[in-house]
Amino acid sequence: MTTVGVLALQGGVAEHERLLTGLGVTSRRVRRPADLDGLDALVIPGGESSVLDRLLDVAGLRSALHEAVAGGLPTLSTCAGLVLLAARVANPAPGQRSLGLLDVTVRRNAFGRQVDSVETTATWEAGPDGPTRLRAAAIRAPEVVQTGPGVEIVATMAVDRQDRVVGVRQGQLLGLALHPELTGDPTAHRSLLAMTAAPRAFIG
Ligand code: GLN
Repeated sequence: MTTVGVLALQGGVAEHERLLTGLGVTSRRVRRPADLDGLDALVIPGGESSVLDRLLDVAGLRSALHEAVAGGLPTLSTCAGLVLLAARVANPAPGQRSLGLLDVTVRRNAFGRQVDSVETTATWEAGPDGPTRLRAAAIRAPEVVQTGPGVEIVATMAVDRQDRVVGVRQGQLLGLALHPELTGDPTAHRSLLAMTAAPRAFIG
């Protein structure tokens, strides 16, 4: 049976669990290093990246999480989770660090403040039959402003008729700036589950 961990330090944990249950997989809350053992995949939810960053240290999870993800555990990170995985954060909060695993630069809160939150239709570029639509919420979403050579763009969102990058994939790492767990759109989670079938490759 497939077991997907959901980092449960802060943020939208229950919504991801509901979506995963709907896809017929078991989820497990990850709060301490031992919770990572034997997982088939991992979800890092949104929330607030600078808080998540601090809580990783409080929970003693930073190095275990880094090791698991770098070791090839298929991982879907959404919103603050994407910021947490990024190699570079253009506008970090004071003292904020990231795990440095996804070779991208992100800009936090790139589409406005909490009051500017919207439900939006983005384009999922990586559908098996070509681009498809992704329905998701944008809540103080980050934007991917630069990608390294091994990074594929998997989602874009049109803002003022300009396509902005809101989803990327590097090996088994998926990063999405939006919240599909709030609309129940399973596209990104299905992609995560598809990755569990592939052999794991070490990152970086
Ligand atoms: N802007 C937030 C951050 O930097 C992310 C918001 C979210 O996860 N919805 O962490």
